[in-house]
Amino acid sequence: MVREELEQTLVLIKPDALKNSLTGYILSQLSEFHTGLRFAGAKVVHVTRLLAEEHYAEHRAKVFFESLLEYLQGKLHYPDEPHKQRVIAIVYQGRNAIAGMRDVVGPTNPHQARDARPGSIRALGTVVPITDEGGEVIGTRLDNLIHASANPADAEREIKLWFKPTDIPPSMRIFPTAACDTHFYYRDQRVYTTYTTGSICLAAPGDVLWDTDLEVLELVCRGADAPYSLGAVAAKYLTNLTEEE
Ligand code: ATP
Ligand code: MG
Repeated sequence: MVREELEQTLVLIKPDALKNSLTGYILSQLSEFHTGLRFAGAKVVHVTRLLAEEHYAEHRAKVFFESLLEYLQGKLHYPDEPHKQRVIAIVYQGRNAIAGMRDVVGPTNPHQARDARPGSIRALGTVVPITDEGGEVIGTRLDNLIHASANPADAEREIKLWFKPTDIPPSMRIFPTAACDTHFYYRDQRVYTTYTTGSICLAAPGDVLWDTDLEVLELVCRGADAPYSLGAVAAKYLTNLTEEE
């Protein structure tokens, strides 16, 4: 198989799409018939704050960051219904997956999408004014229905953030994995190699991990600098575990 046939991108069908029953429409637009791309992995995720923060880490300093986290967590569209707060995360694979998917998705701002790319998925989104307590408009929120990775580096980071290697069939995995030979436990943003009450087992001997995740766990355990955060490793193991947060 030629490597370019295996390119992968992460798609998130966001809470506004679920609330408006656009899931089926979006999946149909993204079908292999229309895009030439195949499912490599898919899951329903109750998004924790940790996962949302890691996903949108590049926007940490922006004024809309807090509302972006609440949006991805489903808190804006389902404030009183935690059981409906979820997104559908999908890895699509195929030639030109990243740029091709961004094209079907359309521009970030739904108004621009309607002008520049009518027919794209985000052309069906909404732009919501944000007002202060006095009713003054202080900004806008972009409810744009769907996320798609912007470039190869983001795609790799995001796929590894949302998916374990074992969520993807072995023959479809494109990022290197490694076998773990020790236990790693997580509690209160720290990692341990022995169990203590209240900690969660992230990995055990024999488990298959992204090789970069294993490297981060080993470095953090030794107190050394790691290429990315422990939170980015742990988030997918803590997902759908409790009713949190
Ligand atoms: P995404 O990362 O969700 O696929 P994108 O890559 O097209 O979208 P980004 O610049 O990464 O756009 O912005 C991430 C998300 O932040 C957008 O999907 C949107 O919901 C929100 N956002 C971006 N810019 C603004 C803004 N100026 N005001 C409010 N929300 C914004
Ligand atoms: Mg983005």
